[in-house]
Amino acid sequence: MRLILIGPPGVGKGTQATLLKERTGALPISSGDLFRAEMCAGTELGNLAKSYVERGQLVPDEVTIGMMRRRLAKPDVRERGFILDGFPRTLGQAEGLDHLLSELGLELGQAVLFEVPEDVVVARLGGRLTCPSCGEVFHRVNRPPKVDGVCDRCGSALAVRKDDQPETIRERMRVFREATAPLADYYERLGLLRRVNGSGAPEAVYQEIVRP
Ligand SMILES: [Zn+2]
Repeated sequence: MRLILIGPPGVGKGTQATLLKERTGALPISSGDLFRAEMCAGTELGNLAKSYVERGQLVPDEVTIGMMRRRLAKPDVRERGFILDGFPRTLGQAEGLDHLLSELGLELGQAVLFEVPEDVVVARLGGRLTCPSCGEVFHRVNRPPKVDGVCDRCGSALAVRKDDQPETIRERMRVFREATAPLADYYERLGLLRRVNGSGAPEAVYQEIVRP
């Protein structure tokens, strides 16, 4: 199974990635996790990415694609397949991924677009708590930290980001729709796009994804 999950934060991509991993063995690969791993390990690409993040700038596509190349080239990906979450986000990244996959002799199965009403996303993201130190994300209802207000991973105090305020979420979804519309068109033209209703129960969404 070789999938891309496309959708704004809060539409349940992470839940599906976990289900897909448990049931098919495919490896979830999120660009966020990759970034954190490379930054923590202090690799050349990690340091480069960090320099952009610290200046509040977007990490350039070639840096992100470089990290993806290293990850997708590993034998476990070839054996088990992958589920990409958070990448590609732009047409440039999608084209970069195409090159990368053909270089590696891997073929993409499908791109799954999660469609969810805005109010549902606002409700989900409204409860988010983020660790300012390590970036770990919790949720008041769906994923509470073990100790109230404290990061399980590093012990720092958790905060509600300005990003997770309702008005900011709505604005972000608008921006996301605009940015990903070309991406959805791109995969549609390739005959690889599958639209799923992300507001259903996890099992129902899962069945939409794996339906032949
Ligand atoms: Zn933390």
